[in-house]
Amino acid sequence: MLEQLLEQQFDEMVAIRRHLHMYPELSFYEVQTPAYIANYHRKLGLDVREHVGGRGVVATLRGSKPGKTVAIRADFDALPIQEETDVPYKSKHDGVMHACGHDGHTAIALGLAAALVQLKDELCGNVVFIHQFAEEIAPGGAKPMIEDGCLDGVDVIYGTHLWAPMPLGQIQVREGAIMAAADAVYIDIQGRGGHGAEPHATVDAVLTGSQFVTAAQSIVSRKVDPLKPAVYSIGHFEAINSFNVIADRVHLKGTVRTFDADVRDIMEREIEATLKAVCDAAGATYVYRYERGYPAVINDANETAFIANIAKKYADVHVTSPMMIGEDFAYYMQHVPGTFFFTGAKSPEADVVYPHHHARFNFDERAMLIAAKTLGDATLTYLHVSREKGDA
Ligand code: MN
Repeated sequence: MLEQLLEQQFDEMVAIRRHLHMYPELSFYEVQTPAYIANYHRKLGLDVREHVGGRGVVATLRGSKPGKTVAIRADFDALPIQEETDVPYKSKHDGVMHACGHDGHTAIALGLAAALVQLKDELCGNVVFIHQFAEEIAPGGAKPMIEDGCLDGVDVIYGTHLWAPMPLGQIQVREGAIMAAADAVYIDIQGRGGHGAEPHATVDAVLTGSQFVTAAQSIVSRKVDPLKPAVYSIGHFEAINSFNVIADRVHLKGTVRTFDADVRDIMEREIEATLKAVCDAAGATYVYRYERGYPAVINDANETAFIANIAKKYADVHVTSPMMIGEDFAYYMQHVPGTFFFTGAKSPEADVVYPHHHARFNFDERAMLIAAKTLGDATLTYLHVSREKGDA
């Protein structure tokens, strides 16, 4: 029944997605998007709360019978990218683009709400649609939305990311860590500049910085358990001087990715220990700032097995390797059990696939239907199983 309702809803899901795609909004600056979402849910007759935690929208569908509460999360922010596709629904906002598929996530949730509302009379329990702002930029929208009560009364949470590099018809799941903690490192090294011909009278910040970058590479290989993954990458090394000047100061920026909380602590501590040792030896000083981004996304084992089993009806289900990218879905699962999975969205007709965050990014819209069916079936099954167990 739900499957047919969702199929009837598909054209509208596509229309919603394309509308949102034309009017993307940047993280923390979303205005029209949450208003559009709130309006859509209100027309369906759901209870709508706006400005949750800032710019979030929470819509609750109350079933006619009592039961548990399932939350479905969809993010809705876009990226500062000038769209370079030729699609008729290309972004009309200069320099802003839905290049990660969050327009699709929103359309999935709205389509699912429109289908489930028709089953209200048989629904045992509630469905909460968490429409989240600002996923792309830490500190993100999830944390303030949780602080503002979006998970109150929620028993379980599910979410998916459309994944363009993965073929349409596939779903990838993983219990435990599926996405990494994504942290930023900012470093200033202060030496003493001088003439390039008289190095002995200086403290060379470029040389000190270079020694630090290299020395810190052995943290992963010598301080971290080899069975626990960690990445340390310096992406920015700045010292702008004339060819014959020894640099006074260098500025570095990098990222650290980990899955385990203890490894994350080790990385934060050991990077500074290396920095201090190198600077002390050189006679330089430093300023170190380690900024924690989103924590790792840790999927509940039971909920992941549950989703995998349901997804089998609609897709080929695979177990994915963990990915080193970050997602603030992590915060929800620090409060309630849940699972986050990837829905393949690579069109079989497409010869080139542009990755997420690319100016030519796009995805096969049929993936939205697969995701909606999986999330919807999981929601109904969860609520009915809960009722039958009598723990509603
Ligand atoms: Mn994304």
